[in-house]
Amino acid sequence: EESIMINIKNILKDAFEVCSYLTSEKKIKFIELSSSPDSYVYFGKVSLFQVLVNLIRNACDAIENLPDAWIKITWEDINEKFLKILIVDSGSGIPENIREKIFDTLFTTKKPGKGTGLGLSLSKIILEKFGGKIELDAECPNTCFVLTLPKEKIN
Ligand code: ADP
Ligand code: MG
Repeated sequence: EESIMINIKNILKDAFEVCSYLTSEKKIKFIELSSSPDSYVYFGKVSLFQVLVNLIRNACDAIENLPDAWIKITWEDINEKFLKILIVDSGSGIPENIREKIFDTLFTTKKPGKGTGLGLSLSKIILEKFGGKIELDAECPNTCFVLTLPKEKIN
């Protein structure tokens, strides 16, 4: 897929719309926080959409049916060349002993038919293909995924 300029705010809105059947079921609030509303990244649009939907779906799966459930997304410039997006959820968190396995192909803790174990491994491949990366922030008390995305053509 060809890289194009993508408005972060718009693509997040689309991704959350697609996941609204999941978020409304558990009354999950979407919190969007950013100091820079007109941020762009240079990436494959369908690919980035897939990654975001994957992460939102994972967050929804991890959130129990409790009041005050939320998914928080923030983004900020790292430097001239890269922007980071943080996706944090109020869910159960990721146990220490599986943290290093979550990006492995076919690794899942979900029941058969519920998870394929492909979401994060494919997200990792996609991010790297377009010159970015995806990491789990181990310092964060909640589950926090950090996407690093290029803001311009890299070569
Ligand atoms: P799948 O969703 O099919 O299980 P993924 O590759 O998307 O596969 O995720 C792998 C595993 O990582 C999940 O089964 C789950 O154990 C863990 N995981 C991913 N995202 C979260 C999250 N937001 N909160 C808690 N655990 C998560
Ligand atoms: Mg998944």
